[in-house]
Order: sequence, then C-alpha cells, then structure tokens
Amino acid sequence: MAAAGAEARRAWCVPCLVSLDTLQELCRKEKLTCKSIGITKRNLNNYEVEYLCDYKVVKDMEYYLVKWKGWPDSTNTWEPLQNLKCPLLLQQFSNDKHNYLSQVKKGKAISLKDNNKALKPAIAEYIVKKAKQRIALQRWQDELNRRKNHKGMIFVENTVDLEGPPSDFYYINEYKPAPGISLVNEATFGCSCTDCFFEKCCPAEAGVLLAYNKNQQIKIPPGTPIYECNSRCQCGPDCPNRIVQKGTQYSLCIFRTSNGCGWGVKTLVKIKRMSFVMEYVGEVITSEEAERRGQLYDNKGITYLFDLDYESDEFTVDAARYGNVSHFVNHSCDPNLQVFNVFIDNLDTRLPRIALFSTRTINAGEELTFDYQMKGSGDISSDSVDHSPAKKRVRTVCKCGAVTCRGYLN
Ligand SMILES: [Zn+2]
Ligand SMILES: [Zn+2]
Ligand SMILES: [Zn+2]
Ligand SMILES: [Zn+2]
Repeated sequence: MAAAGAEARRAWCVPCLVSLDTLQELCRKEKLTCKSIGITKRNLNNYEVEYLCDYKVVKDMEYYLVKWKGWPDSTNTWEPLQNLKCPLLLQQFSNDKHNYLSQVKKGKAISLKDNNKALKPAIAEYIVKKAKQRIALQRWQDELNRRKNHKGMIFVENTVDLEGPPSDFYYINEYKPAPGISLVNEATFGCSCTDCFFEKCCPAEAGVLLAYNKNQQIKIPPGTPIYECNSRCQCGPDCPNRIVQKGTQYSLCIFRTSNGCGWGVKTLVKIKRMSFVMEYVGEVITSEEAERRGQLYDNKGITYLFDLDYESDEFTVDAARYGNVSHFVNHSCDPNLQVFNVFIDNLDTRLPRIALFSTRTINAGEELTFDYQMKGSGDISSDSVDHSPAKKRVRTVCKCGAVTCRGYLN
C-alpha cells in the first residue's frame, strides 16, 4: 500500500467502499504504513479504546475486554480498570448492561443475579452489538450530513432496539427523474420586481396569490399552489418569495420509535406554525411504473409512493430507495405537517415539487408527521384517496394513536 507510485495510483483509482477503520485495521494487521489513511510509522502501534466488550474480576481486580480503534477483533485485550482512561465508554458499557437486564426482566422471570466475577455471555454479546450499532449509526449520520445541501443538521438516534442504518436507502437532495423523464431546470419566465412582496410578481403571473407573509409563513389554503421566484427573476436570495428553494433550516433527528413505527423524524428545535419544514423527494417515475412497483412492494414500500396529481396523474414520486429525511417521516391521521405543491424553476404543472409545512407550532423533541392519504392533492375528499387496485390490495393498520385515527394507512 505504501509503495504505490503515481502511475499505479492512477491506474487503481476506484472508490473505496470499506470504512476508514477497516482499512486501518487491515494495515495494522499486515504491519503496513499508509499515509493517506493515517497509518504512519509513528502511530502504527498506537492504541485507542474504541469500545469495551466484556468484564471480569480476577483476584479482586476488575478487567475490561478492550476493542482497539483501528485494530482487528483478534487483537482485543483484557485491561485492568485502572489503566482505562475512557469514562464515557465505561458509562456506556454500564448503561447498555442495565438496559439489557431491564429488557430481559420484562420478558421472563429468570434470575439475573450476577455472580459479580464475570458477565453472562448474552450480556457481553448485547453490549458489543450495541457498540457496533452506535458506530454504524454515527457513520451514517456523518454521511447524511455530507450529502445534504441545506442548513439544518441531521441526527440519528436509536435507544430502542438493535436496528442499524437502512441497507438500501440513498440520500438525495432533489428529484431523481427516471430515464425518459426530463425535469426542466430553467423557468421560462422571471420577474423584474424591485420588491417581490408588493409588486405583481411570479405568483400573479401564474394567476395565484403570493404564498408567504412577511414572517416566511405560508398564508394560502392547502390545495393552492406555491409559485416561488426562480433563476430568471431579478430579485436576490433575500426575496420573500424564496423559501422552499432554500431547503430545511431546522435540525432534525431520525429516531427509532418505541411504538413499533420503525424510524421516525423529530425536530430538535421549535418550529413556528405555517413554516416550511422539508421537501418530499424521491425518484420521479411514470404512474404506470408506480403501479408496477406497487405490486412488487410490501405494505411498507407502498407507503413511499406519492402521486403527483396536482393537475394530471402522469407521474409519481417513489421515495422507497432514494429520498431525503422525509423518507422517515411517519403517517398520522392528525398530522403536524401539511403538503403543498410548489413550482420554482420547473413550471410544468404535471411535475410540482412537494413541500411539507407545519400546521401548528411544533416544539423541540416532537415527532413530525403528515397524512399519507393527502399525498398529492392536499385535501382529504374521497377522490384524493387512491383506490387503484395495486395500492388497495393490502391495507396497513395505522398506529398513529390520534383520537381521530381512521384505522388504516391506505
Ligand atoms: Zn418578483
Ligand atoms: Zn420572481
Ligand atoms: Zn422575488
Ligand atoms: Zn391513524
């Protein structure tokens, strides 16, 4: 690895799918240095605790089994407690142990009295799984934040079970059109206002009202389209008619729900009522393709299909594999987010962008939800509910818990 010359490097320039830690482990195992992944002669033999795997007491001395960062499992060693300078990891170890014990206690009435000399293998196994999960989720969180192009940060949290990052999900910031579908990215019209709030601006040109008030809150009723200023407009980035295009401003957290709803999304900051929260993005496919996929998907997969039925019924957004944070937002029959159709650089009414706005003040820590049955049309009249055979076939029980719950997701 260290010897690769410039030519060889060019010839072998491929993206690496292995994590940095794994590469470092490989290097150390082979006793190789490699500057580009941070293994030098000086730190080839460095040891940093990555996590603690097990615990035992020998001759009144406490020991922990240590996994070393950047070293393979085969080099794990037992270290006396007094040598360990990692109070957070020790705390984590103890928390995980207690969580495991309290979970098991709920299930069965077995004696969990430790003999205090060693941990039961099942407990150590759980602690290692939890440590590995934490690393995987942290890595995923880093990746999401590298990919996102908006201001708000994305956090990931699972204090509920051992579920790790989804294996078949790819973060995107905007629509990913399927082959054959073209999204026009340049508007045909732009305004030349000196003040878009007071003048006859882009919305007027489209025959609708300006969607926002001076506080960047939406003031038009659901079902009404939003026409924002675009790349042809003379106004600058501070124009009051540029909101959705600036992306999510709030820090959000993808978290594991404790009521069996899988992943959910909560806000980490207070969100004012009628504010733009996030866009719903995914693959843009034809409705025929959506029909086909709908038959292949299980109940969960079907809930990611979002018909763009603002004016026609030609296209559907599929966020099952490609999406942003909205992929993880759960359904509620009494939601705090509301769907709006948005036109910015693409004025094709068959292909609106979908924006989610808060319907009320949402406090920090509250879960975000929207009504899956409102996908597309923005009102809940009976014909907005999709009755196509593919999607009606399987009904998914709703677990939203709202007083007004309709019982099913579809
Ligand atoms: Zn204007
Ligand atoms: Zn404009
Ligand atoms: Zn403007
Ligand atoms: Zn419900």
